[in-house]
Amino acid sequence: MTKTHADVIVIGGGLHGLSAALNLARAGKRVIILEKSWVGRHASGATAAGVRTLGRDLAEVPISLEAMDMWHRIDKIVGDDCGFHSHGQIRVAETDKHLVELNERNAKMRQLGYSHEEVIDRTELRRLVPTLAPHCVGAVVARRDGAADPHRALMAFRRSCEAEGVTIHEGCGVTAIERRGADWQVRTDKGEFTAPAIVNVAGAWAARIAALVGDDIRLGMKASMMIVTERLAPLLEPVVSVVGRSLSFKQSGQGTLVIGGGLQGAADLDTLQSAVNFRELAKGARAATELFPSVRDIRIVRAWVGMEAKTDDLIPVIGPSPNAPGVFHVFGFSGHGFQLVPVVGSIVCDLLVHGGTQRQIGGFKPERLMAQKAAA
Ligand SMILES: Cc1cc2nc3c(=O)[nH]c(=O)nc-3n(C[C@H](O)[C@H](O)[C@H](O)COP(=O)(O)OP(=O)(O)OC[C@H]3O[C@@H](n4cnc5c(N)ncnc54)[C@H](O)[C@@H]3O)c2cc1C
Repeated sequence: MTKTHADVIVIGGGLHGLSAALNLARAGKRVIILEKSWVGRHASGATAAGVRTLGRDLAEVPISLEAMDMWHRIDKIVGDDCGFHSHGQIRVAETDKHLVELNERNAKMRQLGYSHEEVIDRTELRRLVPTLAPHCVGAVVARRDGAADPHRALMAFRRSCEAEGVTIHEGCGVTAIERRGADWQVRTDKGEFTAPAIVNVAGAWAARIAALVGDDIRLGMKASMMIVTERLAPLLEPVVSVVGRSLSFKQSGQGTLVIGGGLQGAADLDTLQSAVNFRELAKGARAATELFPSVRDIRIVRAWVGMEAKTDDLIPVIGPSPNAPGVFHVFGFSGHGFQLVPVVGSIVCDLLVHGGTQRQIGGFKPERLMAQKAAA
């Protein structure tokens, strides 16, 4: 069996694995990515690729705002604009009660010194989204938000990694991890790899990787569904979501509508099988046609399910293992990790290369999801 040594082993070839590897390689580390299937096989290939600061958990706001600045210069980071368009993201209120909720959130954000979210009235909403149903009373908008093309992003991050000397092993699932002196020995289907540091970015399977180094991290799973329709003439530019409904609605550069919003299908972590729940999906389609009556008769071309890890508090795990020296956990993005990709890779590099970071990541410690040891 072959044995390969590196400075860092990244477990998981999704966008967070690629971004971590890219930042580490640019800091001079020899990096290997081990990917069980192929790059982008799971959440990073199934994503809606919304690039959203709007409505973020307060713990995520600082890094999300930094990530947004990075998206606006993403071509400088990975040599491609990743299909990123900044037409804004809008969260619509259909009732006065929902508008009150949006105003309350907005007042809180202003108090904290954030100004990226802005409440707009019916007239401005109509100007931004003329095809929206007339009953909507107002909205909140983040004008610098937008959406990208996930496959272009995957290709751009992968190409940049390879240009920096990162070695990517696909079809190379990690099955065991053991401590050997100062190194971790990682066993896979395709031989052994050793390194003093590991980044666990294994998405929905990350708790299993954590368990291999002795960390018991509580983690759930999402099986979010998406719909893509036939191509249409230009209908809207911003990404639209709606208070109180599971709907995220946007039009891609190709003209297709990409409809999601977190409706759940079914998925199995062992067999890797997933299934669309058409009854649930119909709710998303109904919400879409109620908000955009002109799309009532269009055809759905494809629907799919993407698997991702979900934490109890719906914010990610980003930080060193408290038990396993040199192991860093980065997962649990709970359905909104695409936007964070550029900044989280840079944070991983801070932690691993410099031993700490100026970024505010205190709320993301793995310890908060780990079983408390019983008092003696
Ligand atoms: C349907 C859907 C819509 C979404 N929409 C948005 C959105 O609009 N905006 C947004 O910001 N976010 C969105 N997200 C979330 C976002 O896509 C994810 O947070 C992000 O892609 C996670 O990337 P990742 O690299 O952590 O995980 P993944 O891309 O899942 O990568 C993890 C990788 O680890 C590999 N792996 C697992 N176990 C092993 C092992 N033992 N050995 C080796 N490799 C292993 C897997 O094969 C997988 O490729 C969405 C997600 C889904 C599913």
